[in-house]
Amino acid sequence: MADLQIDHVTKAFGDTQVLKGISLDIADGEFVSLVGPSGCGKSTLLRIIAGLEGQTSGAIRINGQDVSGIRAADRNLSMVFQSYALYPHLTVAENISVPLKMRQLSASQRLPVIGPFIPGARNRNVEIAAAVKHAAQTLEIDNLLDRKPGQLSGGQRQRVALGRALVREPAAFLLDEPLSNLDAKLRVQTRAEIAELHRRLGATFVYVTHDQVEAMTMSSRIAVMMGGEILQCDAPDEVYNNPLDIRVAEFIGSPK
Ligand code: ADP
Ligand code: MG
Repeated sequence: MADLQIDHVTKAFGDTQVLKGISLDIADGEFVSLVGPSGCGKSTLLRIIAGLEGQTSGAIRINGQDVSGIRAADRNLSMVFQSYALYPHLTVAENISVPLKMRQLSASQRLPVIGPFIPGARNRNVEIAAAVKHAAQTLEIDNLLDRKPGQLSGGQRQRVALGRALVREPAAFLLDEPLSNLDAKLRVQTRAEIAELHRRLGATFVYVTHDQVEAMTMSSRIAVMMGGEILQCDAPDEVYNNPLDIRVAEFIGSPK
């Protein structure tokens, strides 16, 4: 479990200042949505939290620890992307197990080299299989474990991507427009499933979307971003009823 602190984070790509000093504290177990128009810097901020991109200045803290020098794989966060990024040649079970296998690999690489035998590897494989099954059951895709991604619908693929995020038991989930490749009906259904997953896990969720309705229905708080800044971060009804800025009102669609 984790609280996240984004402390005066800026990001420039060349001469372009994409994030202009973002500060946001996210409590353990919160569901915070980052909303705002395309190009406002949402994905960049999420990638910086994940460690996939470095900030120009400022700090990210996870449970109070500055993670600036810590690479993505060691931050114990799971990121889910809009494109599911599944391996087409692997089964659903194998796709979900990838993060655990990678962890196993990096752990074994740290052992002194004594030949191909890795003590405990067999038990570890049994553990991995159990963790994959559990994640698949949570997302109700345990009947699909032997299929390949090409044999799945878009909604099922997105659930496999969620399963892969879930199996690591991360401190926090970072989701970047995970529903935007789904059709409208499936989007509403999967939205409810993600909200339910959050309730059940009680984990910290940071959810990026350009769809304010999606954010309104799922979040404990909404951070409205525009032009690399957070204009307001409050509970959904507060943002809706008391927008601090005309741009927030227009984006959220508050009554005039
Ligand atoms: P959003 O996710 O809100 O649509 P992004 O974070 O993807 O916005 O992008 C914010 C701005 O940063 C955009 O103007 C985009 O073109 C720019 N940008 C993002 N990544 C890069 C990069 N690697 N190099 C240069 N510019 C980038
Ligand atoms: Mg984006």
